[in-house]
Amino acid sequence: MTADSRPDLFNADVLAIAAHRNDVEQTCGGTLLRMASRGLRTAILDLTRGEAGTRGTAEDRATEAAEAAKLLGVRWREALDLPDGAVENTLENRSKIARIVRLLRPRVVILPYWQARHPDHAIVATLGYEACFLAGLSKAPAVKAPAYSVEPESVPEVASLPPHRPFKIVYASLYADVRPSFIVDITPFIEQRQASLMVYRSQYANQAAGSGLFVAEEEIRERTFAEARHYGLLAGVRYGEPFVQKEVGLVDDLTLVPVQSI
Ligand SMILES: [Zn+2]
Repeated sequence: MTADSRPDLFNADVLAIAAHRNDVEQTCGGTLLRMASRGLRTAILDLTRGEAGTRGTAEDRATEAAEAAKLLGVRWREALDLPDGAVENTLENRSKIARIVRLLRPRVVILPYWQARHPDHAIVATLGYEACFLAGLSKAPAVKAPAYSVEPESVPEVASLPPHRPFKIVYASLYADVRPSFIVDITPFIEQRQASLMVYRSQYANQAAGSGLFVAEEEIRERTFAEARHYGLLAGVRYGEPFVQKEVGLVDDLTLVPVQSI
């Protein structure tokens, strides 16, 4: 999953962008699995590497993220070098993300919802949206070459890649106190999603560091399944992941609108 495999990546179907390694596994991992099972090309861009985490090192998180990517069936996953815990919406950061958007050319981008307890998550909603806009500008503002963490030579500068703007941006709203626009049924994928989360041993295994801060390992499964069950029930399925879209929905045939009313 390096830039060498770039020809494979043109026109990715779905790109999930998140602040931290293991965010995507929690908020939209089941959706990525469902898309991959339909033969769609999925990708993940983590913006930070986890160097400020209470638990584990950036190296631990890199190994775990690669393992999780395999379990989620994604074609490509990389991490940028934005500072963990201090993500900011700057032109340089927008350019770093825009370069990846131009490289992968996704039709759909998944971002975190714009209100969140962790400031990094909230900022990524705006930062990611504005980066997608920038990626579509044919005359994107020139930015001094931002450092790219992996194989800098092989990833072209944003200005040298053709413009691309995703068709659709949706916001993963699992942790937001907001009514979702729609639910993705992840029932067949809930165990695989859980497996992808639990490869982050540095974060979830019981340990002294952060023991008053982190949920005990044995409770994680109950919590994640309860959340998925809650959102599933809203749409009449067993397990679901919630999303918000800013646009209204469009219907072609009233008889095919899903989710029963009574
Ligand atoms: Zn996070």
